[in-house]
Amino acid sequence: MKFVSILDREEIQVSATEAIIRGQAPDGGLYVPADFPKIKDYIGKSYQEVAQTVLEAFLPEYSKDELADCISRAYSDVLPVKLNGNFLELYHGKTLSFKDVALQIFPHLLKLAKEKQNIKEDIVILAATSGDTGPAVLAGAADVEGLFTVVLFPEKGVSPVQRLQMTTQTGNVAAIEIAGNYDDAQKAVRTLLADEEFKNKFKGRKIFTTASSINIARLLPQIVYYFWTYSELLKNGKIKEGKHISFAVPSGNFGNALAGFYAYKMELPVSTLIIGCNENKILYDFIEKGVYDKNREFKITHSTAMDILHVTNLPRALYSIYGADKTIEACEALNKTGKFSVEYSSLDLLYRFWPCFVTDEQTRDRIKAVYEKSGYIMDPHTAVAEYAQRRFDIELGMEWDEYTIILSTASPYKFREVVECSIGKELPPAPPEIKELYEKEVIHKKFVQTPDIEAIKKEIEEALA
Ligand SMILES: *Cc1c(COP(=O)(O)O)cnc(C)c1O
Repeated sequence: MKFVSILDREEIQVSATEAIIRGQAPDGGLYVPADFPKIKDYIGKSYQEVAQTVLEAFLPEYSKDELADCISRAYSDVLPVKLNGNFLELYHGKTLSFKDVALQIFPHLLKLAKEKQNIKEDIVILAATSGDTGPAVLAGAADVEGLFTVVLFPEKGVSPVQRLQMTTQTGNVAAIEIAGNYDDAQKAVRTLLADEEFKNKFKGRKIFTTASSINIARLLPQIVYYFWTYSELLKNGKIKEGKHISFAVPSGNFGNALAGFYAYKMELPVSTLIIGCNENKILYDFIEKGVYDKNREFKITHSTAMDILHVTNLPRALYSIYGADKTIEACEALNKTGKFSVEYSSLDLLYRFWPCFVTDEQTRDRIKAVYEKSGYIMDPHTAVAEYAQRRFDIELGMEWDEYTIILSTASPYKFREVVECSIGKELPPAPPEIKELYEKEVIHKKFVQTPDIEAIKKEIEEALA
């Protein structure tokens, strides 16, 4: 298995470890698998076994034992994934967010990639966060030898629990708060990764990569839970073999949904990927009308992890669906004007995705309604997906008999205020991971007043000194 950059017309193939170390291709494109292996024997297997099967298919440079070791380090103490009725809860990881699924294994894959590429320098992982990636990458990488992690988090849109998870994290890490929103933080990371002069200052000592979903090693571990869920549903007699199922995915950077699309390309019987958006409904508008336009107001919503106008993984999907030429055209237009579109006639190629957008009020209503009906407590992100799934059923219900799984991406405790206000009462006592946070020492206190790249560079240099 090799990987190619979505901006490379020549389709020059690079190895998995090269793609993982670089994060982003030299042409600025994202790496994608050159083809999609068909996975056969995943039925009836444990999560770890399904992970082994899926990751082996994409990462032939890693031996079976090496992968087994990564998987065991990542998932044997804390398995982030649990199927609870129709909800696939992805938030049982170290930081109670779905980002843990990928980020508990990512540092181990990265460390091995470094060894295989014969890199002597330490690796600096740079990541921007809208709230959940930051804590998860810091926790996942803190104790992995040879790695140092720097997270940039925006002052706005990060919840108190998320902030504490980052600012109290010990180990080889730094968390820096910057003025602005998530897109500013993400832009800073991309600028720094492309800044040769900055990187040269650390020559011979450190090299830089990213843990944002730019990195293909973030995406691959997410394919696993789609296969595992299918296997569990078969095992529990909920579906029959070969039956198509749908997934409702609360979407921001489109990594989760793209992993589902990749699973479909690997012949998992996926019928529809229901794309739940909040009021930053740029994905909805694109899938519905073929127009992607970033020139719009950025809104802070209840589902802050999805407050995104630069949808990192969308170009990967474009590449799969429309090919390199159209993707290059779209990315160029996007860079110049913040906007691109696909022809109306080729919109139907997006039929696998069914988009829906959900307001904050609807989000709160669903948290309340589901709680009153079943006692089940959803966080605002999960509620967006649940609302989208209901709409899907209502609009297509007559003709559709698919089994739908709702992807649940955060613990309600991480978004306590909104949840409590929706259900009209206090949540039961918080799990110990959250309670303990308030007793920990705040270590990282740096704040960059402007999302100014020079100021950010200075802070990073200090952190790495
Ligand atoms: C990151 C995140 C999402 C969005 O996932 P994407 O892969 O970026 O689409 C949804 N919910 C939560 C809680 C998240 O942390």
